Amino acid sequence: MQFARVVEVYDRIEATTKRLEMTNLLVGLLRATPPADLDEVVYLTQGRIHPDYMGIELGLAEKMVIRVLAYATGLEEERIETMWRDKGDLGLVAEEAIASRRQKPLESTPLTVAKVYDNLDAIARESGEGSQDRKIRLLSDLLSNATPREAKYIVRMVVGKMRLGVADMTIIDALATTFATKADRDRVERAYNVSSDLGEVARVIAAKGLKGLDEVRLKLFRPIRAMLAERLETLEEIVQRMGKAALEYKYDGLRVQAHISPSKIQLFSRHLEDITGQFPEILEGLRKLSVDRETIVEGEAVPVDANTGEFLPFQEVSRRRGRKTDVERMAKEFPVTLFTFDCLLRGEEDLTPRPYSERRKALETVINVSEGIRHSTVRVTDDVKEAERFFDEALQAGCEGLMAKALDSPYEAGARGYQWIKFKKEYSAALSDTIDLVVVGAFAGRGKRAGSYGALLMAAYDEASDVFRTTCKLGTGFDDETLRQFPEKLKAARRERRPARVDSKIEPDIWFNPEVVLEVRGAELTVSPVHTAAWDAIRSGAGLAVRFPRFTGRWREDKGPEDATTVKELLEMYRGQLKRTKGSH
Ligand code: ATP
Repeated sequence: MQFARVVEVYDRIEATTKRLEMTNLLVGLLRATPPADLDEVVYLTQGRIHPDYMGIELGLAEKMVIRVLAYATGLEEERIETMWRDKGDLGLVAEEAIASRRQKPLESTPLTVAKVYDNLDAIARESGEGSQDRKIRLLSDLLSNATPREAKYIVRMVVGKMRLGVADMTIIDALATTFATKADRDRVERAYNVSSDLGEVARVIAAKGLKGLDEVRLKLFRPIRAMLAERLETLEEIVQRMGKAALEYKYDGLRVQAHISPSKIQLFSRHLEDITGQFPEILEGLRKLSVDRETIVEGEAVPVDANTGEFLPFQEVSRRRGRKTDVERMAKEFPVTLFTFDCLLRGEEDLTPRPYSERRKALETVINVSEGIRHSTVRVTDDVKEAERFFDEALQAGCEGLMAKALDSPYEAGARGYQWIKFKKEYSAALSDTIDLVVVGAFAGRGKRAGSYGALLMAAYDEASDVFRTTCKLGTGFDDETLRQFPEKLKAARRERRPARVDSKIEPDIWFNPEVVLEVRGAELTVSPVHTAAWDAIRSGAGLAVRFPRFTGRWREDKGPEDATTVKELLEMYRGQLKRTKGSH
């Protein structure tokens, strides 16, 4: 098929804002496309040349494209750069430049879809020595044969900015209408959700019709689109709606889909990008499990403080890009734990149609718990009170809430529904104020912190009983200098046993008499069954903990332990915080 035919439709699609009109234009295009070109037209319309998960992407540097444009049109590079500055869209620049080119090519061959696609694909795959030159040649080859309108789209494609505005769901509608009926769109969508590959869906439906789509199956090393959750405001509503359900801790990290065979492991993100290279520690953990069959599991990767064992804010792993050595360093400094929560494939068997409870059992047999790999904590209940207690435990463990899952629900790829319901506590801004806490214990440092303390046990002052009650483990915000100073500065306060004025359920490696006061900033306060500050005040059998505490660097040498933040103040802060979050808890 001639590429001119395709871009003519693109221009009309670009000019409309109505989804229905867009769908009709696409249907016209798909009908006119011969089967052999169909998947390529679908990918181009999506602004890519392969499904996302393959990681084969265009994205040439604009400078390079400008050079090729200059060469293809005989215009000065500076002139093209000025045009680019004016228009802000290199595609429009290409259109104008090609229209005004001084030397028309002696012979030009009209571009076909196959030619455009093949060259773009080759550009995306080129790498290594001399690849720049080869990319330039491939692009020149296209641009010297392109009409102005074709050049516009080719250039937008190569710089990775196609932006036609056609949503995947619109392409699905158009495929259903073209090859079946509009009413069949759900079956088309299902095939897409399972394969994450609209080109493949187009190929199959064109060749084998709707029935053929049923053969599109979950496959190892091809990610499935993630099942998503709805939200409800109270646990009561959730229990009412679901009855007996599985409640799982909702971890605050990065969703990971792990595809595992005995010889290879690949990881995909929620957006189906290949993130295998970003998490060497997950690969290592999964390899140790020596899974003997093919399997796909899903989980949430959460960074853990190597010293306190507590979760860290997710931001610590969101920067895992860049060079391999950086990734390796981050993996050592902030290793993640993968909390697995679903099993989608086991051996030959696609488990997605099976109920949650069976998939969970499969998960527990396939994945043994090991260093860095765990199962999500789960409790099955239909009791609101128990759900509330479990929620508190989840927050205390550093999670952001609960995920309720219907016991009989299949895994619905790509769908958001009430089979999974999330319940989280919305975290308001950081605690507006810093607090001053007293050091009452320490845990021996590991790794880089060997010889100093990995974390400190911190307490607030309870005026009423003149006792210091614990409220967090503090392990972040320590620079090298501070770490070096700790043992020395705390030496005088060291005790063999728990000092009488310290109330703690946690047993640190070293106890300190409450003397040294540090300034701490926390994200917020949560109810906690392990910390003793404000014990029983909010809920029986629980105290208050500071979430994500960080040392500000300020030693409050001006403060005695009795001048530290009091339990009463913590309680007031907690109540203030509850008001701000409008009691979602
Ligand atoms: P969504 O993923 O629903 O579009 P979002 O990206 O804002 O929304 P959240 O609202 O925080 O994410 O909740 C859903 C996410 O929670 C999941 O995509 C998954 O990454 C994460 N998650 C954490 N723990 C679990 C669990 N036990 N089961 C399922 N998902 C979990």
